[in-house]
Amino acid sequence: AEMFGQLSTSLEAAWSKLRGEEILTKENIVEPMRDIRRALLEADVSLPVVRRFVQTVSDQAVGTGLIRGVRPDQQLVKIVNEELVKLMGGEVSDLVFSKSGTTVILLAGLQGVGKTTVCAKLCFYLKKLGKSCMMVAADVYRPAAIDQLTILGDQVGVPVYKEGTEVRPSQIAKNGLEEARKKKVDVVIVDTAGRLQIDKAMMDELKEVKQAVNPTEVLLVVDAMTGQEAAALVTTFNIEIGITGAILTKLDGDSRGGAALSVREVSGKPIKLVGRGERMEDLEPFYPDRMAGRILG
Ligand code: GDP
Repeated sequence: AEMFGQLSTSLEAAWSKLRGEEILTKENIVEPMRDIRRALLEADVSLPVVRRFVQTVSDQAVGTGLIRGVRPDQQLVKIVNEELVKLMGGEVSDLVFSKSGTTVILLAGLQGVGKTTVCAKLCFYLKKLGKSCMMVAADVYRPAAIDQLTILGDQVGVPVYKEGTEVRPSQIAKNGLEEARKKKVDVVIVDTAGRLQIDKAMMDELKEVKQAVNPTEVLLVVDAMTGQEAAALVTTFNIEIGITGAILTKLDGDSRGGAALSVREVSGKPIKLVGRGERMEDLEPFYPDRMAGRILG
């Protein structure tokens, strides 16, 4: 299933209602705007975001007037496109690297969202940018997570720093960073423990790890399948531990697009990267304009 497929189809209904019209008016956009509102809600975009979006697009549409040679439906598509791009943050939000020495990227996320996979994918991605990497296994609750990271590390040709499950995650992270610095590794990625749900112990641990390694990037990995819940999670993690952005995974699944469209507006934090598959190469920057383009077909 193509993400946004349903959303694109639903939006078609909005444009079709403007066929035969000469210009956009307060009256003739009522029905199309209702369709847009419904389409976004069905895509699981958060309600306040939908409200603001519909209001902004309506205001602009009525103000456009007659543009020679451009049909009203095309005008509305153009406005929606521009506002979708803005909604998703406008520009691509690049990863930040420290100016000198080793850059630390801390990864957080609930269990099962694809965090461990992202850790390795990120190495694969960074290696293509010419950066050397090291992964640190700071998830001490699931021994399987350490094994998984080791296997993935072999796959992408990146060393994994580990100390088993008996050492404090913050200590492992600190030692891992020291090792990386000694070896002049460009980027160290710290994989932390996820839980099924947010709990205080997890947040406290993340804060402690963050304090221990002073990361340049703190990225929350969220699952696109959870829709607007992903945006709520980004907000909570940002308030609790302070994050620099999100990585949205499983865009290749049946998600309806609500996460991609809500995260930035709800949390104020950008989606920096997206995962669209289980292979190591399936991680790429989040391009708001390309996403909008896919929605509008
Ligand atoms: P963690 O518990 O957050 O570390 O999650 P894992 O990295 O172990 O991933 C959980 C499952 O999701 C695994 O089966 C992954 O192969 C799968 N997965 C991760 N990212 C993606 C993605 O972008 N698309 C798809 N389809 N599956 C993914």
